[in-house]
Amino acid sequence: MGRLDGKVAFCTASAQGIGRAAAEAFAREGAKVFATDINLEKLKELEGINGIEVRKLDVTKTEEVNALAAEIGTVDILFNCAGYVANGSVLETEEKEFDFSFDVNIKSMYRTMRAFLPKMIEAKKGSVVNMSSIVSSYKGAPNRAVYGASKAAVIGLTKCSAADFIKRNTIQLYLSGTIDSPSLRDRMKAMGDLDKAMASFLARQPTGRLGTTDEVANIAVFLGSDESSFITGSEFKVDGGWSN
Ligand code: NAD
Repeated sequence: MGRLDGKVAFCTASAQGIGRAAAEAFAREGAKVFATDINLEKLKELEGINGIEVRKLDVTKTEEVNALAAEIGTVDILFNCAGYVANGSVLETEEKEFDFSFDVNIKSMYRTMRAFLPKMIEAKKGSVVNMSSIVSSYKGAPNRAVYGASKAAVIGLTKCSAADFIKRNTIQLYLSGTIDSPSLRDRMKAMGDLDKAMASFLARQPTGRLGTTDEVANIAVFLGSDESSFITGSEFKVDGGWSN
């Protein structure tokens, strides 16, 4: 028996990192999973896994989101995982990058919720799981001003939506700490010296290590399952104690 038997899950940004680990974990627990990403080539690595269907989706395109929602119909789990990290202070982040960050990190969630929620409300069931970050209204970090602002916006959207739909659906908020994902490695390399960058990230981890994508995916399974049915709008921090 899987913890998500009979459920349908829709996940964004599933070609790598946390989104991929979550899509795999949902499928392992018995869900039928629509795994989506802008990078179809990489996403195709998931093809052949029992229960997973892949679809190309750019979360910044409203028509693409709406078309896919119309094709798929009612889902039980909407996992909004797409995110982009703009590196720099406000002085170093151009308006174009500000707008792009907000489009990928928060407007995408507004889009998918508008596309999928009406059918979930009609069915009187289902969980929306939105990925925010400890770097938000929770904690400041250098060179993350616009990223942190967009992830704080995720907290507002999620908590207010939880209040709006509290009688029928759970809207879950999920804050991740520093997780060893491909894009985190890329950001470390971009800092010039991978070992030095890794040491600086580890120095702020009370656990002395980074989180794994599977450790985050486990919480996504819980939040998408009926086990979390009396939890809505609460923050789930998966950060190895960084924000304590
Ligand atoms: P990642 O950055 O390694 O991968 C992101 C995925 O998003 C890629 O597969 C990419 O192709 C896809 N993507 C990018 N733009 C897209 C678009 N417009 N439409 C659809 N897909 C798109 O992933 P990650 O580091 O595991 O992060 C996943 C989420 O978790 C993000 O929202 C991120 O902000 C959040 N998060 C990550 C960390 C961390 O340390 N890794 C910490 C806190 C929060």
